[in-house]
Amino acid sequence: MKNEAITVRVSDIAGYVYCPRVCYYRLKFGSRVSEIHAVKEIYASRRAGFDDEWAMGKFLSLYGEENAEIFRQALEDFVFNPMLDMLKQVDTDVFLESKRLRLKGKLDELVLFNGKKYPLVLALKAPKEGIWYRDRIKVAAFCMLLNEAGMDAQSGFVYHCFDGEIRKVKVGRKDKYAVMKLIERVYKLTKGFVPEGVNDSRCSRCLYYEECMNEPTTFASRFL
Ligand code: SF4
Repeated sequence: MKNEAITVRVSDIAGYVYCPRVCYYRLKFGSRVSEIHAVKEIYASRRAGFDDEWAMGKFLSLYGEENAEIFRQALEDFVFNPMLDMLKQVDTDVFLESKRLRLKGKLDELVLFNGKKYPLVLALKAPKEGIWYRDRIKVAAFCMLLNEAGMDAQSGFVYHCFDGEIRKVKVGRKDKYAVMKLIERVYKLTKGFVPEGVNDSRCSRCLYYEECMNEPTTFASRFL
């Protein structure tokens, strides 16, 4: 019997880079509401010329009143960089899927800069230089999906919502190869493998901390 092809999400491969176990738990329980959900609504609202109240209304109807504090905190930390006006919005929440790559995802924004279109992804805080590796992987994955859809995309932007940093990243063959490897790894997790976690400073603010501490590890998981 032929196996049904599983399509992996860009958010899952980026989650895997952050911690393989975070990816595993997102697949198992779904994504838990966090600041990134809030900043997406704030960003979209401001880019469209709406106010923060509109963004809050959208956020609360999507994620529930019980998450109001997450929104309030994200709004307090949000920085809107007026330089964003140089990146003309072409489309938002662009759903992309490639059966060939077995990859799909919702791109935050497609922008026009100097007459060329680029993917733009949202992140929280920028590192001192460049971008975080997980954001590089996200941009690479969306460039690959846009290529599959017939658009020439070899670079993209990351907007860091908590410090207003706009950073451009060029995607190389190495990044694309890493995306393919991650698709294979996430695919393995869908088969029920429990991977090792990172067990470092990230754990203290992890939304899956409790489950992770109670998860038994297996010998096989060390080789994922
Ligand atoms: S608690 Fe740490 S190891 Fe476990 S899922 Fe979270 S970040 Fe990963």
